[in-house]
Formats: sequence, structure tokens, C-alpha cells
Amino acid sequence: MARPEAREACGVFGIYAPGEDVSRLTYFGLFALQHRGQESAGIAVSNGREVTAYRQMGLVSQVFDEGVLGRLQGDLAIGHTRYSTTGSSTLANAQPMVGEWRGGKVALAHNGNLVNAVTLRQELEARGEVFEASSDSEIMLRMVVREADERNSVEEAVAACMARWRGAYSLTILTEKAVLAVRDPYAVRPLCVGRLNGEATVFASESCALNVIGAELLREVGPGEMMVAEGEGVRTRQAVKSPRRALCVFEYIYMARPDSRINGKLVHEARRMMGHQLARDHPAEADLVIPVPDTGWAAAIGFAEESGLPFREGLIRNRYIPRTFIQPDQRLRELGVRIKLNPLREALEGNRVVMVDDSIVRGTTKRRIIGMVRDSGAREVHVRITAPPYRWPCYYGVDTSNRSELIAARCSSVDEIREEIGADSLGYQSVEGLLKGLGVPRRKLCLACFTGRYPILIPRDVKLSKLDLEESEWRSGEDAPEASTAARSPTETRG
Ligand code: SF4
Repeated sequence: MARPEAREACGVFGIYAPGEDVSRLTYFGLFALQHRGQESAGIAVSNGREVTAYRQMGLVSQVFDEGVLGRLQGDLAIGHTRYSTTGSSTLANAQPMVGEWRGGKVALAHNGNLVNAVTLRQELEARGEVFEASSDSEIMLRMVVREADERNSVEEAVAACMARWRGAYSLTILTEKAVLAVRDPYAVRPLCVGRLNGEATVFASESCALNVIGAELLREVGPGEMMVAEGEGVRTRQAVKSPRRALCVFEYIYMARPDSRINGKLVHEARRMMGHQLARDHPAEADLVIPVPDTGWAAAIGFAEESGLPFREGLIRNRYIPRTFIQPDQRLRELGVRIKLNPLREALEGNRVVMVDDSIVRGTTKRRIIGMVRDSGAREVHVRITAPPYRWPCYYGVDTSNRSELIAARCSSVDEIREEIGADSLGYQSVEGLLKGLGVPRRKLCLACFTGRYPILIPRDVKLSKLDLEESEWRSGEDAPEASTAARSPTETRG
């Protein structure tokens, strides 16, 4: 679902499949990853001699047609769907980005965010590099091109760059002859590898993109690993040491598609189990359970199963709202225009309702939804949230608000939040409850937006840029990193 309050990541794809229609397979792979980014899409393809790319603003289905795909012929390809913050939603930032080194071309597709991007960019500018875009992905590409010129190898160049990049990156990279897939040493963003027709190699942010083209999931690309699909097979190497894993827990909570498998766990099942745990930890006296569609769906099923309350659809979502949709003006908003979600009066009227959702970011959307549910006759609205209070901003590629906009950071208690969103009761899952429901050890996850403990150290000024704190208010104890190899440097941007 296009989330009303926040924040998707990006989707990357790669395929090495001589003899197959790789651009069409990439198109279908990107289509399955559309939920990760709806602002731009692109494909780069190689026929073994040259790399050709096409990228445009818009949805995958708007960017590509038969004519465009027909011009993208080859044996290997990568693709990208992009989400960005306002202001950087331009064609120059669309991906895959293509650069040229002395041995040929290289294209790069990135999901994540570097925390030392400003330093790296300043270094490159000092060496005469002129940038066309504002994203950290262009910085990564320029670095790879420079290193490739020096080392006479894209593979060696990427390995050298990985030692300097700090932050989250899951990449697919294309040269004339090979597709590379690499993941940062903490494996913050997902990336998996699959097999098509017993021999072709496919990489994707999520396994749902493998399923859609009939490929079989083999495994995750490991933290700090580089995989190279070329010629007869796939080579792999540990390009940089991994201090620990720190997969973004929000992939399980709402970002990934429910039919994707991450680290062996089906996302739908993970959410259902979170719902079970939520019902055990925060039961409610009520008549029925409804989800906030779509990401609250599986957790609401779990809540209903555990509590014994009936599960009903109480809110119907319009599935066909593109990002370019003209937003309602203030007057229509005040009238409570129901463009995205429409309540089902027949299900809600006279009932005490448990409404299950994945998270509360700013709280404005939740307040509107609760208002709609009440206006449709619900006697009581009990809100249950599978994520703990969202108090800290993300610096690893998820577009969240600054800290002062996060309702859980602004309010001093859960009861204050409950009052602000207008619920009869509010139950947030705790970090411990979340881990118990999810069944994944804490040491393998990033939980920073709940705990303020960032697994990859963030340069001070980058950190402050989203905290809305004065330097004098800085409290270093709150953000002590759990482990870090990161450089202390000033920074910016996202990819
Ligand atoms: Fe995910 Fe939150 Fe960590 Fe960002 S800070 S990577 S959203 S868990």
C-alpha cells in the first residue's frame, strides 16, 4: 500500500540469463517490487558488448511499453524502482545510473542510504568531479568508476568502495559481461538470490520478485558479500567484514510484501505471529477485530485468532491511487473525503472495535481513520499497534519525519498519544514483545527507530539534522552505537 504517513525504500533487481528476454523479466520483477518505490523506474541491459539504459519518472507500468522493452535487448540486466523524499524526485536521480570507465560502462541500482555521503561527495568534488544528481547513489557510481579506472576491474573497484561506504546499501550492478549483487556489512536492506530454469541467476530486493518470473529462491545475499554472475556461473566473496547483522525490522513490520520471504521467514506469517503476541500482551474488551489495510491485515488475523474475537473488514481501501493522484484540497480534507479508505458502516455500527495497524508515525492519518470509524457508528475504538512507539528517525534509507514530527517523540506518554489520535484505548507492542512475536534475535535486527541505538554510527551533524535538537541538547548516551566500523564525518542525502 502507498503509506499515508511515510516512507518506502527502493527496489532493486538483477538477472543474468543468456537466451532469455531479460528486459521483460526485469520489467515483471520490478512490477513485483513496485510497493518499494513509485516515483521512478529504470532498466539497464547488456548484450555482452554494450550497456543500454532507460529510466523515467512514474510507475513501472507507465515507464515501460513494448516499444521501450523492445529496444532493451540483451542477456543480462538490472532494474530499479525508486522512492525519494520531496525535492529529490527528479529524473536525474532515477536509477539505474550509468557511468563510464576506461573498460566500458557500468550501471548501478541502489536501495539504502549512505551516512557518510557528504564527506565522500566533498572528496570527489575536490578531485574535480561534477555531480548531476543529488543522491548518494551517484556518489557510489562515481567512486566505482574512478576505482575501476585505477584497478582495471569493476569487481575490485566495488570491493574497494565497500570499505569506504558507511550505511545501508543493497546494490545490483551491471557491466557489459556481468551482474554483481552486493550488500552492506550489516545487511540492513534485504537482497536475495534465486535460480531461473536451473541455470540463470536472479537477484532481487524481495523474493516476491523471483516468484513472479518463476525463479526459485536460493538464499539471502550475505552481509558484506559480493556475488558476481558471469559466464558459466556465480562467484562469491566476502568483500568486507561483517561486525553483525542489522536487518531493518520494518521490513517485517510493514515494508516488505507479505508473500516475500526474508531470512527464511514468510513476511505474512511473521506479521500474523506479531498479531498473536500483541493480543496476548494487549488484550481488549471488544466485539470484533479490523485491520487497517493492507499492512495491518496479517497482524489483525493473528490478533483475532489469539483473542477469539471475530475478524471483519471494516475499512475498504481503494487500490488504484497512483502517486500522481491530485490530492484533496483543505476543504475536502475537512469534509473527511474518503479517497483512500472507506469505512463499512454495516460492520462497524454499534460495535466495540479493535483496530490493528503496523505503526504510528505522525499520528495525523490515524486520527482521521479513527474519526471515520466512529462516524460510521463504532461504539468504541481500541487501537493496537504491532510496532513499539516510533521515536527516532531513520538514517538508513527509510523516509521518516524529523524527530519533532514523530508523535511518540512529541508526547510524554502513551495515554497522551491515545488522546491525540482519539482512541478509547491504545496498545503498542514493546520491543521485547515484538522480538518474541517475530522470533528473530535482537542482535540480528536494527531497532533504532524504537530504541535510538543505531547499529551503524551516524556522523554527529547528520544525526542532528533530523533530531531537531540544539548541539547543546545532544545527549550522546542515547545513541551509543551497538557496534560500528563507521567513520566520524559530516554528511547528508538518501537513495
Ligand atoms: Fe529500519 Fe528503523 Fe533501523 Fe531505519 S532505523 S533501518 S526504519 S529499524
